[in-house]
Order: sequence, then C-alpha cells, then structure tokens
Amino acid sequence: MTEKNTPIMPTEAEFAAAFRTSLALCGLSGIAGSDAAVHDFFRLAEMLLTFNAHTNVTAITDISGLILSHFCDSLTVAAAGVIPEGARAADIGCGGGFPTLPLAIVRPDVTFTAIDSTQKKLRFVGSAAAELGLGNVNPLCVRAEDGAVDPAMRGLFDFVTARAVSALPMLVELCLPYLKVGGTFCAMKGPRGEEELADSANALRLLGGRTERVEKITLSLSDSSEPLERMLIIIKKTASTPDKYPRSYGKIKSRPL
Ligand code: SAM
Repeated sequence: MTEKNTPIMPTEAEFAAAFRTSLALCGLSGIAGSDAAVHDFFRLAEMLLTFNAHTNVTAITDISGLILSHFCDSLTVAAAGVIPEGARAADIGCGGGFPTLPLAIVRPDVTFTAIDSTQKKLRFVGSAAAELGLGNVNPLCVRAEDGAVDPAMRGLFDFVTARAVSALPMLVELCLPYLKVGGTFCAMKGPRGEEELADSANALRLLGGRTERVEKITLSLSDSSEPLERMLIIIKKTASTPDKYPRSYGKIKSRPL
C-alpha cells in the first residue's frame, strides 16, 4: 500500500461555510443544516481524507467534490421523503459509506445495514460510524446476491437504496429480494436512469416491483461549476420475490432479466 498525499482539509469554519452554501444551492438546508450535523459532516470529511491517504475508498478527494458528489448527493434520498420513520434500511454496495453515512447522520431513527463485498471499505464505514457515535449503522461484508438468500435478511427491510453499483436491471435483482412487500427501493442514478428503467420492465415484473415515481435532481455548487444531473428511481415492492431470485452473479450479469 503506497502512502498518498492527504489533501489539505479546510478549517471547520471554512468547511461549514462551503457545506452550508452547497446545501442551500442544492435545496438541502432543511435536511442537514443544523450545527450538530454540519460538525458531523466536517469530521466525516476529515476521516475520509485521512483514511483514503492509505486505503483507497473514494476517487473523489477534493473538498467541493466530497461535499457535492458524496454528501449532497446522498442527502437527496433523505430530502425525497421516501425513508419511513423508524425504518430498517439497507444500502447495497455501500462502498465507503455512501449514501449510508450521510443518511445515518440526518436520520437517527433509521437503522442502516451497509452491505458491501469489500472489507477494506467497510472498515472505514465501521470506524467512521463509531467515531461519529452513529449507533444506527451496521456494516456487513457479504456479496449482495448471497445476503439476499440469507433467511435472516430476505424480505426484512422497509427501505433499500444503492448508488453506483450496476445498471438497474441487475440492481433490482440484487436489491428487491431484501425488501418486505410494501417496502421501497430507491435507486440513485444519473441522467441515463430513465433508459435503465425502461430496460428493467421485465425484471420488475418478475421480481415483484412497480415504479412509483422518478425524481430528477440537479446538484450544483455555483453557476459556473458543472452541475450534477441525478435521478432517484423509486420502486415499490408489490409482491414477494420468487425464491429462484437472485440468480448467481454470473447469470445476473450475463443474462439480465
Ligand atoms: N455506493 C458507494 C458510492 O456510491 O460511493 C460505492 C460505489 S462503488 C462504485 C460500487 C461498490 O459496490 C463497490 O464497493 C463494490 O464492492 C460493491 N459491489 C458491487 N457488486 C457487489 C455485490 N454483488 N455485492 C456486494 N457489493 C458489491
């Protein structure tokens, strides 16, 4: 493992000013604008950059990139009002903790099972949650398709989310089995989300899902910066998923439903 240079952290006051401006520009001030939340996000940024200097958990290492692409983007899920009060939630392919960690900060009523197959990323998720005193984050190292057939998790969750894991037809096969009937899956996607949704019609029919709505979101820091076009695809589980799904990862990938 090579030691990389740690990007310079701004002071807490500088971070707070930049973070609050970004929240306001993204319409998220009401979600994470309290002093306590801003302090937690400052510490999370510090921990992420420090950890990332020796173990790669994110490719984004500049502060405005972290704020926009990891913090604000994750918080759009909280702003969408799709996570039920007191929910049992799962983040499939959480990587270094996105969207889990930002959501856990602003939704202490919700417990998040943060699933990933890469232990080194989950080590960061666990230590950041512990440092921030987030008792509502449970990191779990398992392949999504294996966890989905574990009777302890299948059909257990009220809410499931995932960002940057796979195309939607594969993602619904990995995620819907975790949901109870009546639960909600929120796929965090980019501008091609609607095409992926069109390609997912058969998978949704077979797995017991129905599209509830699509929310298009533009995240930008200032008029001059390149805006981030994002899309939340919100799917309801309307019927239980047949036992034969998910299939092996090889089949999910080579023959999406
Ligand atoms: N969700 C995080 C984010 O948006 O920053 C991480 C995204 S990263 C590009 C994709 C993550 O999905 C990786 O950490 C990878 O290990 C995980 N992943 C991909 N396929 C998986 C599977 N079948 N089971 C569990 N984790 C998986």
